[in-house]
Amino acid sequence: MPVKPLKVELLASTPDALALIYAAFRQCYHAGFVADMWPRLLSGEVDREAQADFVRKVLESGHDSPIEHASFTFAVEGISRACSHQIVRHRLASYSQQSQRYVDGSDMDFILPPAIAKIPEARARFEAFMDEVGNAYRDLKSILDAHGRKEKSKEDARFVLPQAAETKIVITMNCRALLHFFHLRCCLRAQWEIRALAEAMLALCKAELPAIFATAGAKCESLGFCPESPRFACGKYPTRAEQNSKALD
Ligand SMILES: Cc1cc2nc3c(=O)[nH]c(=O)nc-3n(C[C@H](O)[C@H](O)[C@H](O)COP(=O)(O)OP(=O)(O)OC[C@H]3O[C@@H](n4cnc5c(N)ncnc54)[C@H](O)[C@@H]3O)c2cc1C
Repeated sequence: MPVKPLKVELLASTPDALALIYAAFRQCYHAGFVADMWPRLLSGEVDREAQADFVRKVLESGHDSPIEHASFTFAVEGISRACSHQIVRHRLASYSQQSQRYVDGSDMDFILPPAIAKIPEARARFEAFMDEVGNAYRDLKSILDAHGRKEKSKEDARFVLPQAAETKIVITMNCRALLHFFHLRCCLRAQWEIRALAEAMLALCKAELPAIFATAGAKCESLGFCPESPRFACGKYPTRAEQNSKALD
């Protein structure tokens, strides 16, 4: 049962995403039919930098919904069940997760929190427990098999698997949902594991669609101040109160 590292790959994204978002925005303000300008958007006859500029400016005004037309699909492995539970709380997304009912957990990989990894005593205790869990899972599965549960034995034996159990998941989110996800999960308040995942997804989005994602990240990056209560502020940006008092100076 080895430790599994995080891996995030972009499986697919909406083709011609910038042109599509531009077209959706333009349809809101244009008397004609946007399909008529579509070939010129694809060919670059309408300059791509001009498309990106237009999109950025309208986004600044808070008109966000046209970016919902473009989406990204990621394949993720090397995250814990604790992390995947946090991810699937984001409802404006689609998920397909490896099943513990159907996939045998006898040789389960696990995620080792860095804080535990760097303390030898904690790491040894953690790894001993993972070994014990693996033994319990295999024992239960074979006892259940012997009692005729057969194919169903995995779905009962899995009840002993820990939150550290490694999982794989395919995630699809549109650009608006992604910006919201990055606001919350790139923040230093988010837990280290989901933050690492969010940062990896953000890097892929930035490379693919910089017009939307170049300045994306935790909420403070766009606000210029920290919207969290002072108790949770990391200090990278002034808190809302500090920002307000600076404005009054
Ligand atoms: C630092 C941190 C700590 C957290 N701690 C806890 C915790 O202790 N316990 C806990 O249970 N959760 C916790 N969460 C999870 C959090 O409450 C959200 O469930 C999670 O971040 C998903 O956010 P969301 O609902 O905004 O996203 P999505 O589900 O993707 O929704 C996006 C947006 O759509 C709108 N929306 C979606 N569904 C509805 C709806 N039904 N009604 C109205 N508007 C809707 C909202 O504007 C929402 O922000 C924590 C999250 C963070 C970042």
